[in-house]
Amino acid sequence: MTIAPACPVYALLLAGGVGIRSGLDRPKQLETLGGKPVLRWSIDALTALPGFARLTLVVPEEWRNDHAVIAGSDADLCVGGATRRQSVANALVEIAEVPADAIVLVHDAARPGVSADVLARLIDAVAAGAAAAIPVLPVADTLVARAGPRAAGAPVDRDALWRVQTPQAFRLDVLRAAHAQWTGAEPTDDAQMVRALGHDITAVAGSEALHKLTFRDDIALLESLMGIEMTGSTRIAVGMGYDVHRLVTGKPLWLGGLNIPHSHGLSGHSDADVALHALTDAILGALAEGDIGSHFPPSDAKWKGAASDAFLAFARDRVAARGGAIEHVDLTIICEAPKIGPHRDAMRARIAGILAIKIEHVSVKATTTEGLGFTGRGEGIAAQAVATLKLKD
Ligand code: MG
Repeated sequence: MTIAPACPVYALLLAGGVGIRSGLDRPKQLETLGGKPVLRWSIDALTALPGFARLTLVVPEEWRNDHAVIAGSDADLCVGGATRRQSVANALVEIAEVPADAIVLVHDAARPGVSADVLARLIDAVAAGAAAAIPVLPVADTLVARAGPRAAGAPVDRDALWRVQTPQAFRLDVLRAAHAQWTGAEPTDDAQMVRALGHDITAVAGSEALHKLTFRDDIALLESLMGIEMTGSTRIAVGMGYDVHRLVTGKPLWLGGLNIPHSHGLSGHSDADVALHALTDAILGALAEGDIGSHFPPSDAKWKGAASDAFLAFARDRVAARGGAIEHVDLTIICEAPKIGPHRDAMRARIAGILAIKIEHVSVKATTTEGLGFTGRGEGIAAQAVATLKLKD
């Protein structure tokens, strides 16, 4: 159906809102849907487009790192503004050098159900000469005016109305002009700003799967709309991981993804974060996909001094690639010092961020060995982890 556009396609993905209506404790785009972060669904769909050039991801400042871990090298990050309009304006500055005739898609990360079909319809419309194209759906419910707090007024002609979704597609120069010249109240999308310049907006068929994630219950609804089959054909898989690294002087201590002030650090080929290594092996174990050494051999100079969150993110992505979900991880750190208690919640938050799961699904425990053995003598730190995954059968 789609024609490869003659001009490159740029995408602006808005993840600037923190979803305070959703009842979730962090931005909704970081939640897991069908085994991968909500945000990742849009990134995967947009970067797979014919003619795709570059993705700019607009994120809340305080959650920047969580988004960076999920996006990896697939997106340039920029920080959002106080309004949706300002967030798009910030992203347009990031692509200031892109030619005026490029096609640009503006999409909300809270709509993960973006399909190749809808994208093709939007891009084809702009490639064929439209200034802007938007996905729309008919209204199925009867609509009435609000006559009072509990009073229904006259019916409104639903055949005269459409529901408008994102992504929306624009010729880049048109979108730039619309943002430069806008003087109205805060708009809820970009097409209305382009229309205010006198351009026609082309409507193409949208999709129910583009339902916006607003409330917690929407996760199950979206899994159904997007045809994600997680029930009835899943199994629980449990994996365990164990690792030890030697304590030495003159090295920073990386533990559970945190740099912890201590007299000694762990020695190893990477940053030697024994806790993240055990977690990575636990997840790989549940997948039955080897161990950390088989994917990141110490003989490979590439991993010298590497930050171990990359290993854990790799394991997370392997779970997503298998259509699974990480349900829970439980980590035990075994050492005499440093004390883990003061760092426990920061460690849980860091691991939850890397794995894109809720902090309630991350347990961090610690124990000493009563002065016995290598851990008791302070020669090294050991870590054990158990990961529970939901996998397609
Ligand atoms: Mg190790």
